[in-house]
Amino acid sequence: MLEAVGYWFNDRAPSGYPRPQKLVATWEPVQRKAVVAYLRAGLTLETYRGKSHCRFACGEQDMGHRDYTDGVFAWPEGLPHYVEKHAVRLPDHFVAHALSGTPPVEPKVKRIDDRPWLRWGVAQDATVELTGWDALGWEDQKKVLERLHARIAPGHPLHQKELEVLVGRRSTDELLVLLPDGTMAVVRLSDASTRLFASWDEWLPRSLPTGC
Ligand SMILES: [Zn+2]
Repeated sequence: MLEAVGYWFNDRAPSGYPRPQKLVATWEPVQRKAVVAYLRAGLTLETYRGKSHCRFACGEQDMGHRDYTDGVFAWPEGLPHYVEKHAVRLPDHFVAHALSGTPPVEPKVKRIDDRPWLRWGVAQDATVELTGWDALGWEDQKKVLERLHARIAPGHPLHQKELEVLVGRRSTDELLVLLPDGTMAVVRLSDASTRLFASWDEWLPRSLPTGC
C-alpha cells in the first residue's frame, strides 16, 4: 500500500489528520526547494471533482484536485504549497526518500494507508483531541438543532444564528457548532450553556462547567 503524507485536518469535517498550522518549522532552503520539486513531479494517482483549499487561508485558490504518488507514498496535489509558502514540515523518512534521487514509478497497488500519517500527526502533537466526539448524521443534526434553538432565548450568543453541527458528544450532551462568521461554540443541549471560541487553535476537549 502507498503511505499517505500531507492529508490535513478539515475545519468543517474534523478528523484525526494533523493541522499544518502546528507543523510550521524552519527548512534548510536547498532541501525545501528539492522537496517541493519532488512533490510537484509526482504521478497522478486519482483525480477528484472537488478542489482543495489552503488550511492557512492565505488566499491561494489553485490547490489542485488530485492525489499524486511516487510508487511508495501518496500525497495531495496541493502539498508543495504548504512546504513552499508555509514551511510546513513532513516526516523525516519521507524527506529522505524525496531527496534520495529515486525516480517515481507507477504503483502496483493503488490503495492508500493513512495509519502511519495519523500516528506521525499524534507524535508531533499536531492533531485535535476529539475522543468521545462523533460526527452526526444529517437527520440527527436537524433534530438536535431544533432542540437547541427551542432553548435559546433572545440575548443568548447563538440566538437566531444559522448553526452547523461539526461534532457531538453524547456522554455530556454537548455539540460543537460552527457560526456563520467562522467562529465556533460548544453548547450543552440541556441548558444551552455555551463556550465560544475563535478557531480550532483554542479548542480544548474539556466539558463546560455546570451551570455557567
Ligand atoms: Zn496557503
